[in-house]
Amino acid sequence: VRRTAALIAGGGPAGAAAAILLARGGARPELIERHRAPPEIVCGGFLGWDALALLGRLGIDAAALGAHPIGRLRVIRGERIVEAALPHAAAGLSRRALDTALLAGAERAGVAIERGTAIRRAEGRTLHLADGGEIAGDALFLATGKHELRGLARPKDAAGHDPSTGLRSFLPASPALRRTLDGVIELHLFDRGYAGLLLQEDRTANLCLSVARSRVAGGIDALIADLARESPHLGERLAASPPSTWAAVAGVPYGWRTEETQPGIFRLGDQAGVIASLAGDGVAIALASGTRAARAFLRDGAAGAEGFQRAFAARSARPIGVAGRLRHIAERRHAAWLLPLLRLPGLPGLLARATRIGD
Ligand SMILES: Cc1cc2nc3c(=O)[nH]c(=O)nc-3n(C[C@H](O)[C@H](O)[C@H](O)COP(=O)(O)OP(=O)(O)OC[C@H]3O[C@@H](n4cnc5c(N)ncnc54)[C@H](O)[C@@H]3O)c2cc1C
Repeated sequence: VRRTAALIAGGGPAGAAAAILLARGGARPELIERHRAPPEIVCGGFLGWDALALLGRLGIDAAALGAHPIGRLRVIRGERIVEAALPHAAAGLSRRALDTALLAGAERAGVAIERGTAIRRAEGRTLHLADGGEIAGDALFLATGKHELRGLARPKDAAGHDPSTGLRSFLPASPALRRTLDGVIELHLFDRGYAGLLLQEDRTANLCLSVARSRVAGGIDALIADLARESPHLGERLAASPPSTWAAVAGVPYGWRTEETQPGIFRLGDQAGVIASLAGDGVAIALASGTRAARAFLRDGAAGAEGFQRAFAARSARPIGVAGRLRHIAERRHAAWLLPLLRLPGLPGLLARATRIGD
């Protein structure tokens, strides 16, 4: 078994943020990532102001990567549309661009990255790799995101009785769609789910859906046909710029959060807590957790894991709790009647702030 001081499982925003700061602090971390190049994972591509600030501290300027600036939120339910200014500037950036920049930053900081190697399972802080290798960390930073790692998986019931499926596709952004989405994130609310739509740096529009499993039983084509009837504005956008391929992730455990861990194991990002995706703050939570875990390790070593986990669970309680309640309201039929409340001065900004982890 090879040994290392700081071992990171997963090279998404949480793992990469921890890696950069651990390397800057002299901890010589090693990171294992199963993909050779960052894939387009299921994610809406929305970066709030807290995510942008956290990225800035990691040396990443989203605007320089071509991120699409976003200043307004448009919420649509049936025929009703409400639009409001966001309290601070946000952006749309593909996960491929974001993860590529983060891992490049980690490499520049001196992180040893093993790409293209899947971790099969964990036994405490020892990782068993698909190539037969074994590597043990004095500290392990678990950052495998949506995916469970055998040996350190979230509880089986974390996703609840009708768990959400995440679906993502890219729409070719015609000039008309570009005009519609210029500076805006659209949230289309419907029964048991929502769709987010925004422009990103590569001139495509990222379409991300979160839908209860009970609604996808008939397949994606049937779901999209149903949504076109239920959400005419979404239907119009999809008819003009049809999605081609879809990526999916099942059983997303929204609202799950842990304050417990095992000795020397720092749980980061979605492995620490999963915010309802309509809040668009999962990447910020991932970056914040990686940042705080690295600080805790540099201060207290592996012994800092339990204190970090408790403190991060407390810190993320409000955004995850508020986002969960908003999701509950948004996915119910009466949401259409509540939509005009978003016209109350200050309310959209208040809600947007309450669902941020902050920087
Ligand atoms: C439908 C949907 C829409 C969303 N939209 C947004 C949004 O617009 N904005 C936002 O901020 N958040 C959004 N989120 C949430 C966001 O995607 C996550 O919170 C965020 O990606 C968590 O980052 P992470 O680093 O913890 O995990 P991930 O981003 O999932 O990264 C995990 C990494 O670990 C690697 N990995 C996993 N398993 C293994 C293994 N066994 N061996 C080696 N490597 C492994 C993966 O390849 C990946 O690179 C959305 C989520 C969903 C479901």
